[in-house]
Amino acid sequence: MAAPKYDAIVVGAGPGGCACAALLAKWGMKTLMLDKNDRVGGKALNVSKDGHTYELWPVLATPMLNTKFEEVATELGMKLKMSELVPAMKGGGFLYKPPKSKKYESFILVPPMMIPEQLTEKEKEEVNRLFSDMHALTPAEMDALDDVNFHDFLARYDISQSVYSFLAVMVNILFVEPIDLVAASEMAKTMNDFTTKLGSAYFIGGQAQLCETFTKALKRDGGELRLRTRVERIIVEDGQVQGVYTDKGTFKAPIVVSNAGIQPTVLKLVGEEHFDKSYANHIRGLIPSLGLMGSRYFLDKVVFEDSAYIIYSDDSWWNMERYLKAKAGEIPRDMLIIVFNPSGFDPKLAPKGKQVVLTATLCPADPKMKNMKGWLDALDEQVTKFNPELRKHIIRREDYTTADVSRVTRDSVVPGQGGECIGLGQIVGQCGHHKPSPSAPIQGLFYVGVDSGGYGVGIHHATESAVNVAPIVLRYHQTH
Ligand SMILES: Cc1cc2nc3c(=O)[nH]c(=O)nc-3n(C[C@H](O)[C@H](O)[C@H](O)COP(=O)(O)OP(=O)(O)OC[C@H]3O[C@@H](n4cnc5c(N)ncnc54)[C@H](O)[C@@H]3O)c2cc1C
Repeated sequence: MAAPKYDAIVVGAGPGGCACAALLAKWGMKTLMLDKNDRVGGKALNVSKDGHTYELWPVLATPMLNTKFEEVATELGMKLKMSELVPAMKGGGFLYKPPKSKKYESFILVPPMMIPEQLTEKEKEEVNRLFSDMHALTPAEMDALDDVNFHDFLARYDISQSVYSFLAVMVNILFVEPIDLVAASEMAKTMNDFTTKLGSAYFIGGQAQLCETFTKALKRDGGELRLRTRVERIIVEDGQVQGVYTDKGTFKAPIVVSNAGIQPTVLKLVGEEHFDKSYANHIRGLIPSLGLMGSRYFLDKVVFEDSAYIIYSDDSWWNMERYLKAKAGEIPRDMLIIVFNPSGFDPKLAPKGKQVVLTATLCPADPKMKNMKGWLDALDEQVTKFNPELRKHIIRREDYTTADVSRVTRDSVVPGQGGECIGLGQIVGQCGHHKPSPSAPIQGLFYVGVDSGGYGVGIHHATESAVNVAPIVLRYHQTH
């Protein structure tokens, strides 16, 4: 039987893949989306178990207003339901432990500029100057910051230690990168969105609502979705894409849009023999973001009342020096800890009186990282120290590591890569005008998702990429 033929095949149903596939179908292209998982969502998929619905790890949507999520949904004629901004009221939010103190201070971010309320007037003035300057950057000034890391950019300001720690934590949680590696342009653009579009939010019903909504539109517009289908090879003949080989058969198309990560796509799915040596070497040398690992606690009582907690001190955020110590095997004594409570955003996600909380801490991206158990136990100990009630109410604890992240999302094709939290690192040399082009140097091959075509935070970044990449793909289709 002849292989089924499509206008375009999208490999991967993460936020970038789903948004792109749905847009192409809406614009009249016969589109097939494939994913190796049994559900859509990529790194932001949902699981339902024992009456709970939750993500595999903490995932917040940033920003909250005037988003690319809504832009895609509106184009598709669909509606997304997002949570209201949930203020931290019961001990949650940004929790900073000053030096020599045993107590955490809550940093409440006050809209519209999201400047922490607890700062002194002098500190507020300087943060205001920093945030205002970032808003006022001209496009040329912003481009120049592609080559400056955020730590160096901050040297222009009189920043106190507690403010520096807050900003370093923002970098660590938004991009999962060390503060002295992340591109200042990426931070400036993202903080501009964060401050004008009101911080972060959650999709009602779980974060996978985003991908599920886009997938509904894909099917409505004649597109096809095949789950549990692993793409083993993207077929290229004479420099032109022909389709894909999967574990479920061959599918033909003159266009393949890969959401499987640029490194796995080039080095494994296509194969570097199809690329110019210097391009393949450039892709191999790209640096992924860091990883996150942590646990899912099923609790018989609501132990964390707020929806999110970011727990840190001056010792817990990462710069390169701290990352390298961790890479050498040193477990941080004072971890940067995220505690995430999906039912704090949407109470329907947990049976009454119970909750699942998801914890996370920074770690190297390596799916073969040593002593994962040591890291997880240290995290468990530090979370318990923060809230001793946790221990008394655990029904079950499930752990996740960078190996699990890789299994659910992208393959490891370069040593140390695969378990990255975000995707390609948003660091100097890889952002703005240095970012890989969404059009591969092979006819009909494109990349969508966090590795190409966008900026910003995780799932929003991937959706922004689809907004930019889908028109390029459509134009290619129309002109070929
Ligand atoms: C622990 C953790 C916490 C995070 N927290 C946040 C957060 O708070 N906020 C935020 O915005 N982002 C967060 N992220 C990051 C965010 O989820 C990702 O950056 C985003 O999902 C990337 O989207 P994407 O479209 O590029 O691809 P992905 O979500 O990575 O999806 C790629 C898809 O491709 C599929 N695929 C790969 N290879 C193949 C193949 N060969 N055949 C078939 N299918 C394939 C995968 O199965 C997957 O479904 C977090 C990620 C992790 C791991």
